[in-house]
Amino acid sequence: MKYIEEFQDPQLARRLLDEIHATVTRPWALMEVCGGQTHSIIRHGIDQLLPEQLELIHGPGCPVCVTPLEMIDKALEIAARPGVIFCSFGDMLRVPGTGRDLFQVRAAGGDVRVVYSPLDALRVAQDNPGSEVVFFGIGFETTAPPNAMTVHQASRLGIRNFSLLVSHVRVPPAIEAIMRSPDCRVDAFLAAGHVCSVMGVGEYPALADTFRVPIVVTGFEPLDILEGVRRAVRQLENGEHRVENGYARAVRDEGNAAAKEMIADIFEVTDRAWRGIGVIPGSGWRLAPRYREFDAEDRFDVGDITTSEPAECRSGEVLQGLLKPHQCEAFGTTCTPRNPLGATMVSSEGACAAYYLYRRLGGTRATATSPTVEATPVG
Ligand code: SF4
Repeated sequence: MKYIEEFQDPQLARRLLDEIHATVTRPWALMEVCGGQTHSIIRHGIDQLLPEQLELIHGPGCPVCVTPLEMIDKALEIAARPGVIFCSFGDMLRVPGTGRDLFQVRAAGGDVRVVYSPLDALRVAQDNPGSEVVFFGIGFETTAPPNAMTVHQASRLGIRNFSLLVSHVRVPPAIEAIMRSPDCRVDAFLAAGHVCSVMGVGEYPALADTFRVPIVVTGFEPLDILEGVRRAVRQLENGEHRVENGYARAVRDEGNAAAKEMIADIFEVTDRAWRGIGVIPGSGWRLAPRYREFDAEDRFDVGDITTSEPAECRSGEVLQGLLKPHQCEAFGTTCTPRNPLGATMVSSEGACAAYYLYRRLGGTRATATSPTVEATPVG
């Protein structure tokens, strides 16, 4: 498939790995921000092929994982109400709230539906004028444009029985919070390519300057990730801290102007809680005042629900790169993808689920010589 297979080429991977090995002279810790990158790194064994001094830390980049427990509980409360049709992407249905999940609400008679786009939920609202239809709008800058477009359409078409339960988060404030943490071990970031394809790179130079940290916009295929690592370690070894675009086939510096305009029209920046991390100032979006009538939290009066994370789950430490999933005592015992204790074990992009799926049970590094796309070492 074009733009995928050529970015899994084993010979090119070998060359990039050789260059990385030749460049690294001391220990460095790189954080990949996106859960899709984490999944790709673990799936292809990329972390095990890097120099031993180079550590990849899995950051808070999985949208399901960072959605706070209290937002899940608000979703459960709304979905259980009579007359409500609650629409969501499928991966949110298994995320455990306090004592139940959306599947259990559905089993108890709630009308919970999986949709593939927020616009599908809007059609459900048009088809069911006697019901209140709610879409669970979570995620990063990547899912904000279609959610914003849906509210725009609901407003334009006068569809008043539709609302959005909003839990959007923004990457740059999270990078700032990570860098300001006293426990921070991150020397460089692999920024999420799909986020930058929407927002551009304009928010990153100030972060790179302030924290003297290289930031490399990185894609998701093995060669993309190796190229991001190569650029990051080259900067680190040279004492540089710039923003580089290593994903130019998808990311323009200015991003997607139409998507940014839509976001700016529908949303406003707000403080937002991140699961296991806490509130990060300015790290989210909520509906702007002129669209607040479409806010499900207001409409169903669930703004006061507060909950606390289960003490056993250490996903907050996992999401900050302070703990590897297999170092959590519950990993693979009381917490598995079938019976997840925390969101990082639910989502396919979650670090705990990736470690479980690819049998990263701790300890040994791989002895292979290139990613699992299968190597033919260059001679
Ligand atoms: S293994 Fe389970 S309990 Fe431990 S941090 Fe991950 S999700 Fe939480």
